[in-house]
Amino acid sequence: MKLSRKIKGYISDWFLPNRCPVCDKLITWDKFVCADCEKELCEISDTLCPVCAKKPCADHSKLRFDCAVALYPFRNKAKEAVYALKYHDGVNIGELCAQGLANVLRKRGLVQQIDIITCVPMSRDRLKKRKRNHSAVIAKALADELDKPFDAKLLVHLPGDVLQHRLKAGERAENASKVFKAGAQHRDIKGLTVLICDDVYTTGATLNSCSALLRTMGAERIIAACAATTLRDEVENKDEA
Ligand SMILES: [Zn+2]
Ligand SMILES: [Zn+2]
Repeated sequence: MKLSRKIKGYISDWFLPNRCPVCDKLITWDKFVCADCEKELCEISDTLCPVCAKKPCADHSKLRFDCAVALYPFRNKAKEAVYALKYHDGVNIGELCAQGLANVLRKRGLVQQIDIITCVPMSRDRLKKRKRNHSAVIAKALADELDKPFDAKLLVHLPGDVLQHRLKAGERAENASKVFKAGAQHRDIKGLTVLICDDVYTTGATLNSCSALLRTMGAERIIAACAATTLRDEVENKDEA
């Protein structure tokens, strides 16, 4: 844990006790969630395909990123945790995911390759409603953890928001291909390895669309990092893309 977070956590605990963002139990200042919730999150990163981060594999020929990592199966406690991050200001969850993803990237020997970290962008309208882009929360914490540059504005989301999870699987790719564009005066990423963060990875339409765009902007390699992934036996079309 970074020293700045330790100091901030220690001081703020005096004024506002730290609570588990998933179940609201009081926890010590140095924890992100309570021990029970953490146990129930069931990290599965080691059991996923190292290319597509699914189990069983997705169609690799359709992937526009080079490889993906994901931490939790998108169900039960992990689903509650993602919702806490999205809708209830669960910044702790973002930091927990960032720490977990950093460990997976270290184990996989991918950290040295990463030149820059970015996130799936959110439309301005949705940002107003949710107050923050939760994918950016994970990405920023991951960049801090790995000491890598972070740029939330490599890509932008065009106005006119259609929520991906309200679309059928087949409609998501088409929608995703229309809603993102390169950020105005984005930095030069020619020849770089870009890591892009998202919260939930379902069909991969969003990550594929963002990756294809990063590729046209010059990125050499793209790594996708997600807090949670849906598995084949689960009903898709629930949340995100
Ligand atoms: Zn808890
Ligand atoms: Zn695979």
